[in-house]
Amino acid sequence: MVARELQRAEMLDGRVVADEIKREVAAEVRRLKDEHGVAPRLAAVLVGDDPASAVYVRNKVRACVEVGIASEQIALSASTLTEDLLAVVNDLNRNDDVDGILVQLPLPKQIDDAAIIESIDPAKDVDAFHPTNVGLLAMGRPRFVPCTPAGIIELLNRNQIEIAGANACVVGRSQIVGRPVASLLLQRHATVTICHSRTRDLPSVTRQADILIAAIGRPAFIRGEFIKPGATVIDVGVNQLSDASEAAALFGAEAERRIEAIRKRGYTLIGDVHPAEADSVAGSRTPVPGGVGLLTVAMLMKNTLQAARLRRRL
Ligand code: NAP
Repeated sequence: MVARELQRAEMLDGRVVADEIKREVAAEVRRLKDEHGVAPRLAAVLVGDDPASAVYVRNKVRACVEVGIASEQIALSASTLTEDLLAVVNDLNRNDDVDGILVQLPLPKQIDDAAIIESIDPAKDVDAFHPTNVGLLAMGRPRFVPCTPAGIIELLNRNQIEIAGANACVVGRSQIVGRPVASLLLQRHATVTICHSRTRDLPSVTRQADILIAAIGRPAFIRGEFIKPGATVIDVGVNQLSDASEAAALFGAEAERRIEAIRKRGYTLIGDVHPAEADSVAGSRTPVPGGVGLLTVAMLMKNTLQAARLRRRL
């Protein structure tokens, strides 16, 4: 038998699965146009000048172009008030040409984000954050599934990682990742544990997991001792790392390339999982970047297509 230390976790490439999903969506978009004359359309609203949000919206609009979905981007100033944004959302709700509405989060502090999320027509809520869609998902009757959790399930399914019967552990209980992904895993018959900042002896809990999902927002928080040997590790975290000596310790064989990125751009991206340690313990893991993030965008395309169909009962 080969010693575990000599093996390296298999990479679960997000790009391969995301490209596959986008090809499927593109084919369906073409079919909708040819057979029904319907052109799905996404409206993306960006408030303020947060550079990360601007990149996310740009990637989403670019993906629309790739799959043939029409898109419009509405950019509003950082000083926008709740009532201004409500008026924009209401216009989009009323516009019959718009199938999906996306308001990029986080919103500037003065805006009541709950009021905005609740103002989006649930039939156009392609992020699936509206309470109606959250409720449907919790009941096991999802209409739209939030994009990141849906992407994680696609990644597991399309890599033939069995969910039914597996011990799945989700670290993080946010509304956009932790809770919905736990719900989806439960619906697919995993035995699910949800952990958070008050969990006692976290490594002893996460070490039971065949599928470990980290959605925490803390760079390299999940160390080797948190991982069951051979487990599948899904790293949702997106954090910036700007310290070259830390990068040298975290990235193993990839360190040189990452240090170069820090030198050029000032930072490199790292997930919530310690990559070098995970590589020596896990059976497979998602990289950051190049993992879950790409799936998030692909699933937004799928939800927009789904909205276009559902609104017209096609
Ligand atoms: P969030 O709302 O900040 O939630 C973080 C969760 O982690 C909370 O439930 C928190 O527990 C838990 N946590 C914090 N410290 C912990 C600790 N020491 N031990 C155990 N649990 C701890 O974050 P989020 O929105 O879910 O995002 C999580 C990460 O995923 C971020 O890095 C974000 O950028 C990334 N993300 C990526 C994508 C993508 O497409 N790739 C999409 C969304 C988010 P409490 O509830 O007890 O505070």
